[in-house]
Amino acid sequence: MGDLKERKDHREKETDINFYHPDLLEVPEDGSLPYLKGYRCKKCGQLDFPKMSLCPSCWGEEFESIVLSRKGKLYSYADIYVGQPGMKTPYIIGYIDLPENLRIFAMLEGTVGSFTCDEDVELTVAPIRTNKDGSSIISYKFKKVSV
Ligand SMILES: [Zn+2]
Repeated sequence: MGDLKERKDHREKETDINFYHPDLLEVPEDGSLPYLKGYRCKKCGQLDFPKMSLCPSCWGEEFESIVLSRKGKLYSYADIYVGQPGMKTPYIIGYIDLPENLRIFAMLEGTVGSFTCDEDVELTVAPIRTNKDGSSIISYKFKKVSV
């Protein structure tokens, strides 16, 4: 529930840019928890995230949007000390295995050195970098499951 409050705080600040792409991340207006959107190929059933223009399995072009699980297991991660401009280092990137048999790439929200492989993580919405004006760009990340 903590991440919801954080999100509202970001919204009230006019300088923040909400960068999440509607094809990737849904942040419901009613205040319910945000979720990632997977895309299932209507022809062969393969599920992908992020959305592809063609299904890599059958070249199908039609997809249905699927609500992905908010929780997964951290498959692997890396601490990044030399990053892109606008990204405060160190930051953490990782691969998260979702129950839908989908491995997705995301930044991790938390302290360097605090993650372990195979631990439970959950979706959150947080700054991923700053733009040229120095204001935060917000998108999806994964964090430790709050106990
Ligand atoms: Zn397909």
